[in-house]
Amino acid sequence: MPLPLTLRPEGRRVVVVGGGNVATRRVHALLAAEADLVVVSPTVSARIRELAVEGRLAWIERGYRRGDLDGAWLVQTATDSPVDDQVAADAEQARVWCLKGGDPDGATAWMPAVAAVDDVHVAVSGGGDARRASTLRDAVAAALQSGDLPLRHRTHHPEGFVALVGGGPGSADLLTTRGRRLLAEADVVVVDRLAPLDVLAELPADVEVIDVGKLPDHHPVPQDEINRLLVEHARAGKVVVRLKGGDPYVLGRGGEERLACEAAGVAVEVVPGVTSAIAVPAAAGIPVTHRGVATGFSVVTAHDELGELPVSPGHTIVMLMGVRRLAESAHSLVAAGHAPGTPVAVVERGFAPDQRTTVGTLGTIADLCVQRGVRSPAVTVVGEVVRLSPDWPS
Ligand code: SAH
Repeated sequence: MPLPLTLRPEGRRVVVVGGGNVATRRVHALLAAEADLVVVSPTVSARIRELAVEGRLAWIERGYRRGDLDGAWLVQTATDSPVDDQVAADAEQARVWCLKGGDPDGATAWMPAVAAVDDVHVAVSGGGDARRASTLRDAVAAALQSGDLPLRHRTHHPEGFVALVGGGPGSADLLTTRGRRLLAEADVVVVDRLAPLDVLAELPADVEVIDVGKLPDHHPVPQDEINRLLVEHARAGKVVVRLKGGDPYVLGRGGEERLACEAAGVAVEVVPGVTSAIAVPAAAGIPVTHRGVATGFSVVTAHDELGELPVSPGHTIVMLMGVRRLAESAHSLVAAGHAPGTPVAVVERGFAPDQRTTVGTLGTIADLCVQRGVRSPAVTVVGEVVRLSPDWPS
């Protein structure tokens, strides 16, 4: 049975015999491990030559000779010729571990396939079958990156750590890989109403979930209190994930949360998310820009009075929140010079099974929405791009 070890070759001599593809790949791995690297080969790849010029390794430009292993802790031989056998035999005699290209049976050491995330390394040995090892390694790497494996306590911040994670528009598979990984490391998760709540079900039972979900016109947990919660848990040494809907920095008060944490000396990482401002229109078949139709867009909150906005058929306006103020918003856009016939779509519950789109114009949309009982959460899109929606009557 083999014995897996983790070597620390930093500053220790490692010899690579050969200069082709396999040698080049191993050179990269050995340099990443900061080995004191010597390559012995009459010819080498362009990459090895470059590394030699940069002084990252020593290249001995000739064939292998007995004695090249003097002082080495480890040797990789990859000449694809009988020289490999010679090197292996010399290594055996000199008691140097030998990695042997294409000949696991003749080697005294095997290079595992490695999945690395942060300071965690999972090494896979396929019993000499490199392909088998790398396939399995890929699956392990994917699981580590996605947070399917509990990669906890990566982050050691003595003053505490908070990740502000954009959860996307509500569907678990629209949360980024980085966001998932941080969730898998969390001790405390502070969530919003519009965050992708399905992912919470996957968390280990000992993870504390705090719901600070805000309902429209109803703020169960004020922002100051949320900030205080983040700081308090982080300072207690917990890894805190603040899981927010969409993107943290798009009408999400992520900036305030970051500043509050920083003011308290707590380290913060902000993980972008898929914003509902773009994704929810997309879910209804509306691109916010479209060649020949719209060259830009504004994202605004309709919770308060709309500020000044570009008045142009080529500019799309995306409104978040404020479904109840739709009549006022439409009215103020018309007052500002937008044509009453400008197409409007209101998309409710984007990505949910009961997603619904209501289309009309600035002149008609408010009444239509009352008739249909349109409710929050919804994204309102104003502009010619709305005609691209399959819901627009052709
Ligand atoms: N930071 C978030 C926006 C927060 S404001 C983001 O980037 O998406 C909250 C508003 O986002 C809601 O009132 C609604 O207008 C919109 N919203 C978020 N998710 C939504 C969804 N799944 N469907 C429709 N609207 C959504």
